[in-house]
Amino acid sequence: MKREDLVRVLKAMKVPEIPPRGKNLLIRCPLAPWFHNNKVDHNPSLSILVDPDGPSLFQCFACHRKGPLSYLVALYDRKSGGVLGAIVDEVQKMEDGDAAAKCDRIIESAYGVTTYGSLFDQKDEESDPTVVWSEKELARFSKELPDWIYNRGVSQAVCEKFGVLWDPKDKRILFPVRRRPDSALVGLSKRTIVPGVEPRYKDGWGFHKGKFLFGENFVDPKGAPLIVAEGFIDVLHLYTLGFTNAIACMGTQVTTDQIERIRSWSMPVIIAMDGDPAGRQATRLLMKELAGRQPVFVATLPDGRDPGDLSFDEMRTIVDNAVFVVETVVE
Ligand SMILES: [Zn+2]
Repeated sequence: MKREDLVRVLKAMKVPEIPPRGKNLLIRCPLAPWFHNNKVDHNPSLSILVDPDGPSLFQCFACHRKGPLSYLVALYDRKSGGVLGAIVDEVQKMEDGDAAAKCDRIIESAYGVTTYGSLFDQKDEESDPTVVWSEKELARFSKELPDWIYNRGVSQAVCEKFGVLWDPKDKRILFPVRRRPDSALVGLSKRTIVPGVEPRYKDGWGFHKGKFLFGENFVDPKGAPLIVAEGFIDVLHLYTLGFTNAIACMGTQVTTDQIERIRSWSMPVIIAMDGDPAGRQATRLLMKELAGRQPVFVATLPDGRDPGDLSFDEMRTIVDNAVFVVETVVE
C-alpha cells in the first residue's frame, strides 16, 4: 500500500503523531482502548512495515496483535462500531491485489507451482443447496458406535456433540453435516470401517459437500484461531484434544464456497491439511485465497500424518510452530 494511503487510513483511526518517513513506522496502537491494559498506548507499540508494492504488515508489541493492515482496520472498525465505513473495503481491495501477487510469488518459489485454475474450476452440480433434510432421516441409524471410532482418538462426548451415528447394515459411520447459523441438517456422509471397501466415503442424497464445512455450526469467530483440516475424524479428534475451533473441508477438493465461508468469519486461520501431496495442494490453494484477508498460518504436518492421529502435545507443537503466511511472503 502506498504511504499516503496508509497515512490516510491511520488518521481515520485517530492515530496521532505519524512519523513522516521511514519504512518501519512506529505508532500508538489504535486498538489500545480495547486490548491494552491501561486502555492507552503512551509509548508507541505498534510497528508497521510499509511496503508500497505489497500488503503492509503490523505488529503490536503490547497487545500482540499482528497481521496485514486489513486485519487491523477490520478489527478497529468492528470494535469502534463501524466508524471506518467504506475505508474497510477500500483497504481490503488495495491489500488484496498486493497480497495475491505476493502469495503467487512465494508459492511459486516454495513449491514450483504456478497455476491453481484446475483446482478452482470445479463447480458443484446444479440443484438446490438450500434444501434442509428432515431430522427424521437420522432416526433409523444407531447411536451405539463401534470401537473403531474411539480407537481413533475420538471421545464419546465429542461424538454425541456432533451427532455421529452408525449404520450396522452398511457397516459405516455417519457424519451429519449442519450449517450455520441455524444448525439445520444439510448433508450426511458415511465412511466404511471395513478395510479395502471402496468407496471409503459415500455421501447422502443430494448433499452439496462443497457448499459447507464440517463443524461450521460450532465455529466461534471470536474464539481461538480456526484450524482448517481435511476430514471428519480430524475435526472430531481435534475437539477431543481440546482444539474446539476446527472445521473440515471434507476432502482436498476445496471449493470457492468453502473459502467464502472461511473468509466471512475474518478470523485467524491455521491450515492443517494432511501431510501428503493432496493435502499440500489444498494448503497452497487455501494460502493463496485467504492470506492478505485474514491472518493465515500454515501448520506443517509430518509426512504421511494427519491431524487425526496426533497427540495433544504433538498438535500443540505443530500449532505453535505454524508459519505466518504474509510474514513469510515479505521475507
Ligand atoms: Zn496494541
